[in-house]
Amino acid sequence: MKRLIIDLESLPEEGKNFSGKIDRDLFGIDSDEAKVVDDLHYDLHAQRFGNELFLQGKISAAFEFCCVRCLNRFVQTLVIDDFSTSIRIDDQWVIDPSDQLREEILLDFPAYPHCEDADEPSTCVIPNMHFGVDKSPSSGVNSSAPTGESGVWDALDALGGISKSDKKDQKSWQLPNVEPPK
Ligand SMILES: [Zn+2]
Repeated sequence: MKRLIIDLESLPEEGKNFSGKIDRDLFGIDSDEAKVVDDLHYDLHAQRFGNELFLQGKISAAFEFCCVRCLNRFVQTLVIDDFSTSIRIDDQWVIDPSDQLREEILLDFPAYPHCEDADEPSTCVIPNMHFGVDKSPSSGVNSSAPTGESGVWDALDALGGISKSDKKDQKSWQLPNVEPPK
């Protein structure tokens, strides 16, 4: 697995830029709640000060989350522009900060993933509020919406007709001295 390895021997005093990718397997995340869909990208400046290695820069990784409201799956790239950390140097020749980068991304995980935060934001529609339940949510929204609406209005008209005739029927057999409910 490809990781970020910083060779202290060849690291110049003024530091050095490291940019690249760490294999997505680093995360080990593949569940219904979250699935890693891209490698961890880094663009960092590394510099040694005495017994510490400072890392500073940008890291990012993309995940597929499940929206807490509409349950649709969506891809969101978590970007940390101001990542910084320091790693203690004892007697190592090389430093592998991959796990620190991983931790930082995991800390940035949304507690309540929302599809409106997606890389390509979509309209969040709660399934129960959607009248066209027989239609798959992925089918063309624009084409299905008008027919769905007219169907709803037809249904409401039909309901109105039934309730009117029910009232008529009720009146006909109600006793004259019983007040109709308001
Ligand atoms: Zn949603």
